[in-house]
Amino acid sequence: MENIVIIGNGISGVTAARHIRKMSDKRIMIVSAETDHFFSRTALMYVYMGHMQYEHIKPYEDWFWEKNRIELVRGYVTRVDVTKKELFIDNSRVLGYDKLIIATGSKPNKFGWPGQDLHGVQGLYSKQDLDLLEVNAPDKEVCKRAVIVGGGLIGIELAEMLRSRDIPVTFLVRETNFWDGVLPDGESKMINEHIVEHHIDLRLATNLVEILPDENGRVRAVTTDKGETINCNLVGLTPGVTPNVSFLSDSGIELGRGVKVNRFLETNMPDVYAIGDCAEQHEPIGNRRPIEAVWYTGRMMGEAVAQTICGNRMQYNPGHWFNSAKFLDIEYQTYGWVFSNRGKKEYESHFHWRHSEEKICITIAYHKDSKKFLGINTFGIRMRHEIFDRWLNEERDVDYVIEHLIDANFDPEFYKKYEAEIVDAYNKESGQTIKLKKRSIRRIFALN
Ligand SMILES: Cc1cc2nc3c(=O)[nH]c(=O)nc-3n(C[C@H](O)[C@H](O)[C@H](O)COP(=O)(O)OP(=O)(O)OC[C@H]3O[C@@H](n4cnc5c(N)ncnc54)[C@H](O)[C@@H]3O)c2cc1C
Repeated sequence: MENIVIIGNGISGVTAARHIRKMSDKRIMIVSAETDHFFSRTALMYVYMGHMQYEHIKPYEDWFWEKNRIELVRGYVTRVDVTKKELFIDNSRVLGYDKLIIATGSKPNKFGWPGQDLHGVQGLYSKQDLDLLEVNAPDKEVCKRAVIVGGGLIGIELAEMLRSRDIPVTFLVRETNFWDGVLPDGESKMINEHIVEHHIDLRLATNLVEILPDENGRVRAVTTDKGETINCNLVGLTPGVTPNVSFLSDSGIELGRGVKVNRFLETNMPDVYAIGDCAEQHEPIGNRRPIEAVWYTGRMMGEAVAQTICGNRMQYNPGHWFNSAKFLDIEYQTYGWVFSNRGKKEYESHFHWRHSEEKICITIAYHKDSKKFLGINTFGIRMRHEIFDRWLNEERDVDYVIEHLIDANFDPEFYKKYEAEIVDAYNKESGQTIKLKKRSIRRIFALN
């Protein structure tokens, strides 16, 4: 029986295992160092915030794995020998494989700051990080102030978590506006305001210089490039993530920042594949990054590699880009491509609308010559994924999108709708007289 070994029990490794089991009788083993069972990393914050218990963020019951003949091995893979087709667990146990899937995810970045390894300095990635946070910041008496370094999605989650326990938070963000490498300026400025309104001490355009210890080797303060010293008991390092691949450095498997793969998720070594956060495409797919550290792409890669391993060689083909996240209580969705002011393509124009009082806005990107719809960001309005996918496939223009925007709205019926205001603003800006169409179930579900 063919022996499939998967390193990593995150979304990508577990999806691969589940799909291989659906299609075959192969022996499947998952080796992972972090936890016995798969859990939803994206829900870690809700455990700290008391909305859920750890048991609740495990998508499968513990009996699932044995019932489905997926063997779980707890341990850290220290080395892979591709010639003998073996891997070494904790430098002692040896495991043979016929096919190997590397799904080892990411680790938080550290940039060599003085003091970055002191007690009380941590990232937010793993279950162990969550446990450590309970030690470092159980409440505002133990943790009188936290400093978070790095203004991305994980940084703002950590800020929200700490604020849920009333812990004062200072947030050091290198950029001039929050996440402005990704978001257009109108949006990132709105998020700046929202962060401040949530009593988070946001310091824009500010870099960490040094983390200072107390006499016991615990963090006591940080210094910034603005010449300030900020006293604190916790430093949360959230300046992005890097693929977890250093254990492969002498394996002969080609590495860049991650494990180099082709569109079939195959590495340069026979029978070795890589998926999820740790995989790096030789050539980026469209406007996507070569490394995609997001949940749903890990799942898609897991599905694709399972097909290949079960004899139906399949490319990873992720379709139109989409993503969603939360900035405190503002829901954010993105479909297609809307680049930030810094990253904007020369052919890209934006229509931006923001509500006069509430923290609600959208940005639509379109081609400045053809007016072809390129993508949309929405904050505080929930939209239908399938509709934007269809409009992108059909290469609709921006006028069509504006005219039919109500079809895409996925907010509950009783929510206030803003499409009429959005159309008015678009007409004013473009000098047109577009009228908003009535919502049509036939159109929404493409019924003829
Ligand atoms: C706090 C947080 C919030 C997030 N929120 C979102 C979100 O809202 N939306 C979104 O799209 N994405 C989100 N992400 C990113 C998302 O969680 C990741 O993209 C996804 O978990 C990656 O899955 P993966 O299977 O590739 O790797 P991982 O989930 O990282 O799993 C890899 C596993 O492999 C183990 N491992 C690594 N090396 C070894 C080794 N040598 N031996 C044995 N085991 C090893 C690791 O310990 C880990 O358990 C979030 C991430 C974090 C940290």
